[in-house]
Amino acid sequence: MNDSGKDNNAPSQSSSSAPPPPAQEPVSAFERWRRKAMLVTGLGVSEEERLADLKAHQTRHCEKRKAYLMQYSPAVVFMLKHLKHSGCEVPAENILCAPCDLTRAGGFSPNPGAVVLCSGHFFSEKHMEQTLVHELVHMYDHCKFKVDWQNLRHHACSEIRANNLSGDCNYTRELRRGFVAFSKQHQACVRRRAVESVKANPACPSPEAAERAVNEAWDSCFNDTRPFDEIY
Ligand SMILES: [Zn+2]
Repeated sequence: MNDSGKDNNAPSQSSSSAPPPPAQEPVSAFERWRRKAMLVTGLGVSEEERLADLKAHQTRHCEKRKAYLMQYSPAVVFMLKHLKHSGCEVPAENILCAPCDLTRAGGFSPNPGAVVLCSGHFFSEKHMEQTLVHELVHMYDHCKFKVDWQNLRHHACSEIRANNLSGDCNYTRELRRGFVAFSKQHQACVRRRAVESVKANPACPSPEAAERAVNEAWDSCFNDTRPFDEIY
């Protein structure tokens, strides 16, 4: 991408291809403000610079929200507490906000146990909370049950649980109220999302294999609401 045609008549701006100023020269407050204004208006900066600024802004926002959720979201606090009790304490640094590709809102990496929250991908604060709980359920499974993520049935089981318990399918509130009546719609949602995730596993040879793994894991994993059932 280049920035041709973006220069308009903004005063004394530099294009993205110009060499950066020497590091020892302090940037004045005015210069920083001018830069910010250009990023907001789009005058005198390239699309790439604007995107980079937007991503940095989204990541800062995500980090702030993350800190809030870790302290005040009942579901997140609950999961963190149980992870800690299971010997897998999750420090704040292991939950990181980062820009991701467009296909997902979050991810879990077993080694080391870390969660990625895709900054800029959340359509609401609730969505971010549900995504975090979803990934923490994966982390809990990994900590407690020796999950082999290459094994499609193992993966399917954790996805069923994560979708079921995170509120991705709008179930968490009922669960907190002690309801154990699973609606057909809720089940269909959990199943569909689990199949999608297993399909994306590099070890998955075909969509049919993903469906099969979810079907095989369904009964035992859908009814396994740990650690949530421990308090009711
Ligand atoms: Zn998942």
